[in-house]
Amino acid sequence: MIDWTQIDTVMLDMDGCLLDLNYDNHLWNELVPSRYGQAQGISPDEARQRLYGHLLGKDRDLEFYCIDFWTRRTGLDIRALHHELAHLIDYRLGAAAFLDWLPGRARALLVTNAHRASLAVKDRYSGLSQRVDEALSSHDFGAPKESRAFWDRLAVAKRFDPARTLFIDDTETVLNAARGHGIGHLLTIRQPDSGRPPRDNLKYPAFNDFNELIDHG
Ligand SMILES: [Mg+2]
Repeated sequence: MIDWTQIDTVMLDMDGCLLDLNYDNHLWNELVPSRYGQAQGISPDEARQRLYGHLLGKDRDLEFYCIDFWTRRTGLDIRALHHELAHLIDYRLGAAAFLDWLPGRARALLVTNAHRASLAVKDRYSGLSQRVDEALSSHDFGAPKESRAFWDRLAVAKRFDPARTLFIDDTETVLNAARGHGIGHLLTIRQPDSGRPPRDNLKYPAFNDFNELIDHG
C-alpha cells in the first residue's frame, strides 16, 4: 500500500486515527450533554442542541477543541469527565504495532487538534507519546489543522519534505488543508469509531487496519 522508500516523515492524527474515536464521541455526545443537562434541568437532547446546535455545518475553530473553553461554557469539570471514560481509550486496529514497526523507517509525528490536557489524559492511559518521535498539538501553533495557517506554521517550526511525507487523518477538511500544503501522500480511516459503521464514498484512499501499512516483505 505504501512504498516506504518514498517516505521519511509520517504525520498521524490521534482521535479517530491512532486512537478509537468511540471515546471522544462518548465523552462529547453522551457524557457532557448528560451532565450539563442534569445541571441545567434539561434533557440530554436539549443540552446537545444548546451546546453544539450553533456549530452544525460550520468549520471547527480551535476553540471547539479547547478544554478550557468547554469548561467555561458548561461549568463542568471537563478534565475530570475525561478520566471517567478512560476505559474507552484504546488504540485502533494495528496502530500500536505500526508505531512500534516505524522506527528506523520513518520519523513519526503525532499531529493533533486535541488540547494538551486531552492529549495528556490519552497519554496516561495509552502511552501514545512514547511511541512517536514527537507529539504536536495545533494549539501550540494557534490554528487548527483545517487551516492553511497551521501548515505554514508547522513548516516553519519543523523541517520536513512535503513530497516525502505521509499524512493520515480521519477528517476530510484536514486532509484538504494538508493537500493544499503539498503533502505528497494522504490516507484516511474507514472506521474512526469502532462503535459506528465504516464509512463509504471517502474522498481520499482509505484503510482500516494499520497492519495494512506494514511492509512485511
Ligand atoms: Mg481525527
